[in-house]
Amino acid sequence: MRPLTRYPSLAERILAHSVSDPDGECWVWVGYRDSRGYGQMTVRKGGKPRKVWAHIAAYELLSGRARTPGMTLDHTCMNRSCINPAHLVEVTRSRNSQLRHTRRQDNGQ
Ligand SMILES: [Zn+2]
Repeated sequence: MRPLTRYPSLAERILAHSVSDPDGECWVWVGYRDSRGYGQMTVRKGGKPRKVWAHIAAYELLSGRARTPGMTLDHTCMNRSCINPAHLVEVTRSRNSQLRHTRRQDNGQ
């Protein structure tokens, strides 16, 4: 069972917009995605709509951990549309671009 959180309505929205990948353990975002494949959703903050990244919202809500300011989230599964908190780790921005570079080389790109 997926974890419950303090914000059931938002967590429910997140889970309702993701499906389990049959080939792996990814939770694939099926809502709006940007051109790079990252999921996006709109939440209301202080009565105003605000766009947030689905994987970041999922990480913070479902893992119960707030992202450290200045840190970014790396997809260990390399699936940008995945929102499974177990596949997301906090890394520095420089480490993230380093990882991206290394993986690109591994893929022969
Ligand atoms: Zn994943």
